[in-house]
Amino acid sequence: MSKISKTQAILTAKCPNCREGDLFEGSKMSFKNLTSINHSCPVCNANLMPEPDFYYGAMYISYAFSVALVITALVALNVLIEKPELWMYLTSVVVANIILLPLMLRYSKVLYLYLASKLKYRGY
Ligand SMILES: [Zn+2]
Repeated sequence: MSKISKTQAILTAKCPNCREGDLFEGSKMSFKNLTSINHSCPVCNANLMPEPDFYYGAMYISYAFSVALVITALVALNVLIEKPELWMYLTSVVVANIILLPLMLRYSKVLYLYLASKLKYRGY
């Protein structure tokens, strides 16, 4: 029986049903399979693809991540540098976006699955 919390399950991208099976096929470092989700959980066989194109809704969460990133970069620049120039804003946002893009893409899907699917924890 799995004893990990919902937060841990989300952070480690585990199945909402059993909190043991991995949601993603490939590792975080694999760019080929970066965001491809298993069709069913490898441990409990729960359906992780409730309907075709289910994960299109994840782009709303991805958008929220991007907005949060831009605001964080702008605030950080204003705190760290006295009078930041426009190119500094643009560069920091682009660089932060490139670095964090794999994480934002993955966790937008994980959060969307946890928020929008009907899968509930059963604790096998
Ligand atoms: Zn599972």
